[in-house]
Amino acid sequence: MYDINQIRADFPILDRTVYGKPLVYLDNGATTQKPRCVVEAITNEYYNTNANVHRGVHFLSQQATELHEASRETVRRFINARSTNEIVFTRGTTESINLLAATFAQSQMEEGDEVIVSVMEHHSNIVPWQLQAMQRGIVLRVIPMTDEGELCLDEYEKLFSPRTKLVSIAHVSNVLGTINPVADMIRTAHAHGVPVLVDGAQSIPHMAVDVQALDADFYVFSGHKVYGPTGVGVLYGKERWLDKLPPYQGGGEMIQHVSFEKTTFNELPFKFEAGTPDYIGTTGLAKALDYVAALGMDHIAAYEHELTQYALRRLKEIPGMHVFGEASVRGGVVSFLVGDIHHFDMGTLLDRLGIAVRTGHHCAQPLMTRLGIEGTVRASFGLYNTKEEVDVLAAGIERVRKMF
Ligand code: PLP
Repeated sequence: MYDINQIRADFPILDRTVYGKPLVYLDNGATTQKPRCVVEAITNEYYNTNANVHRGVHFLSQQATELHEASRETVRRFINARSTNEIVFTRGTTESINLLAATFAQSQMEEGDEVIVSVMEHHSNIVPWQLQAMQRGIVLRVIPMTDEGELCLDEYEKLFSPRTKLVSIAHVSNVLGTINPVADMIRTAHAHGVPVLVDGAQSIPHMAVDVQALDADFYVFSGHKVYGPTGVGVLYGKERWLDKLPPYQGGGEMIQHVSFEKTTFNELPFKFEAGTPDYIGTTGLAKALDYVAALGMDHIAAYEHELTQYALRRLKEIPGMHVFGEASVRGGVVSFLVGDIHHFDMGTLLDRLGIAVRTGHHCAQPLMTRLGIEGTVRASFGLYNTKEEVDVLAAGIERVRKMF
């Protein structure tokens, strides 16, 4: 069923060594490694089918267009959107949120209107709203969290006002691993007549996501975090919302007709896709989604859950270990500090042992402020990690601890 050796064999990079040690790659929250089928799909398109998409009369352009639009259908199916009109290709989560922040604030918000975000957001889900705050005078309201790293839902309810126009929250925290109860939070927002954007950067690679079941109005994610290529991502939006929003960037693809007197815009989803899309990237992304879907998102979630529980157990045996984030429902992200060892020192020394972890504020400085720290060491798991790798991590941390 879940043959970890076979899975690992699909990822050539996992065989390499670092400083003469087998690579233990535990930085999947930042980006994931790519299975051979994704790399081959990309290479194959460059070798055999490369041509600019849409409007081309020639054979290759039509083939490339078919591949590109088939990828949109793969994404639609993967998140169970109603229509491919609801799937906008972007450069990634960050661009998706910037697109939405700019177009939503421009068309749906006035000075003094409010967006609710949470204290555990990635900068990508804070700064785009702050840019709108600077330009248009919109206001950010922030959901606090408990010391365990769970959002305070009572406080969330209290943040709604007649000025609330949007809620924008992470499905899974990239620092704490908390899986936020987004379905409930969406229900609450809808009861106030407010739409919700879900940042799915850290959820899409690890669990089945059904945007209709969640009733999310917008859902965004990055290809490179779900075993696909860099430079491509998705903005899902309910069609009736996307219809209401103006174009984001101007250029080719997004127009119907251009004249100096009056320009009209293309239909969905092309209205939001100015310029040549990353049609090679979308092929790679579709291949990656097919790959994880074939393994089964529920199988991946179950495997990673067991691995994370094992990692938490093993790491907590280490004297001086402090794990940040004790949410009852959590994913495979473990942030920690050991005694007073600086996160940067820990990360650097683990690296010499071949163990790739991330250190620092993880693009979540407001969360670091809430936790009263500057940064953490973060191990984040992917579908190919093993308990043996967790053992190597635990032994590595113990070794560093003894050095200090
Ligand atoms: N949101 C969350 C929760 C993330 O973890 C990340 C990346 O780490 C992002 C947004 C930004 O993703 P990208 O850099 O792919 O746009």
